[in-house]
Amino acid sequence: MIDRIYSGPFCSVAPLRFVCDEMLQGAGQWLRAAGYDTLLPHRGDSDSTVIAMANHGERWLITRDRAIPECKEARPFTLLLLSNGLDANLQELSLLIELNWFYRPFSRCQKCNSELEIPSAKQCRLALPDNVLKHNNDFLYCPCCCKYYWEGGHVRRMSRTLRKLQSGRFS
Ligand SMILES: [Zn+2]
Repeated sequence: MIDRIYSGPFCSVAPLRFVCDEMLQGAGQWLRAAGYDTLLPHRGDSDSTVIAMANHGERWLITRDRAIPECKEARPFTLLLLSNGLDANLQELSLLIELNWFYRPFSRCQKCNSELEIPSAKQCRLALPDNVLKHNNDFLYCPCCCKYYWEGGHVRRMSRTLRKLQSGRFS
């Protein structure tokens, strides 16, 4: 059994922050949904770029690339996952580190990771179609990419998955 958590100075940094490598974008989206500050590198970013992102932001680097922990600069803050597939990745992650899947749910933009803000009623009126305004009361928006969020069917479905992750019941 190889050592997969290379604990170092970032273990004690709170709140937990992450970079997920290219192979773990799905897991990264769920960390974002739970409210964790999670960067997803661009396709084709080099290992050294990804390591620098983690290092400069005091982030855990979650990777499936066995070469990353071999790299001296990355070693102190790397989590190496061995599993294949999203469900298995999430399960393995939950077992390796203590995560609160209801840390700050749906508080970050799924697209760009920015913290969401509460828009004014006027902003909503200008940006959203009438049928959305009519059927929803609470809105959030991303100040970076101007995407609006409201509680719909997908949020309820995602909440169910977060509850499943939090309870440790994996399918
Ligand atoms: Zn955004």
